[in-house]
Amino acid sequence: MRRPVMAANWKMHKTRGEAEAFARAFLPLVKEAPDVDVVLAPTATALDAVSRVIEGSHVALAAQNVHPAEQGAFTGEISVGMLQDLGCGYAIVGHSERRTLFGETDAQVAEKAHALLAGGLVPIVCVGESLEQRETGQTFAVVGAQLQESLSKVDAAQAEKVIVAYEPIWAIGTGKTATPEIAQETHAMIRERLGAQFGEAGTAMRIQYGGSVKPENVASLMAQPDIDGALVGGASLEPESFSRIVHFQRETAGA
Ligand code: PEP
Repeated sequence: MRRPVMAANWKMHKTRGEAEAFARAFLPLVKEAPDVDVVLAPTATALDAVSRVIEGSHVALAAQNVHPAEQGAFTGEISVGMLQDLGCGYAIVGHSERRTLFGETDAQVAEKAHALLAGGLVPIVCVGESLEQRETGQTFAVVGAQLQESLSKVDAAQAEKVIVAYEPIWAIGTGKTATPEIAQETHAMIRERLGAQFGEAGTAMRIQYGGSVKPENVASLMAQPDIDGALVGGASLEPESFSRIVHFQRETAGA
């Protein structure tokens, strides 16, 4: 049984004070959600503030990026050890904004995932196609290649820890959610590829959906057999909204 995992990606939003206020308001709202893994990914400058508030709770901390080297002359970068020091249990790698705006490649994502696993952190590895790629029938080829290359440095013994986030780029921040059926179709393909690459461990890996997930659509997405959670941007910025997503069983499944 795959445990649902709901992650908030705050991107470049919230000062330390705002992030801390979110965490203080959010914790009481999710204390009755012990069967769901809940993860907050603040911007790097707010990691420490959020870490102090959620310490000892079942809410976990994630970074939005990491550098694979242990240390060195990498101005502006943050290592796995530094994230451990802040209390991070997870890090998002290969988000489409990092791929398209900052040129992050599958090879870099693979290095990052490898370094995170070596340091005991869970990588949330993002994959997803553009609108043009979808419209020209390339979704499975693009996502399949991203998966294969981004996970090329993960071995079967570690695979079960890794989370894959399928985020069609055309659905991120646009208000256009993939229908549950469209999302499920790609999730099923991803599950099959993970199984082929990692065997039993691959089929046990959790696959999140991301792209305009909201309290109103989360239940219908989570009702799909291969959707194990959500990576949420806009709708994770308010405690009440993200707590409704965490409590997806309480929302009514509809389109
Ligand atoms: C994301 O940032 O990963 C994301 C899916 O954003 P949104 O929920 O705003 O579409």
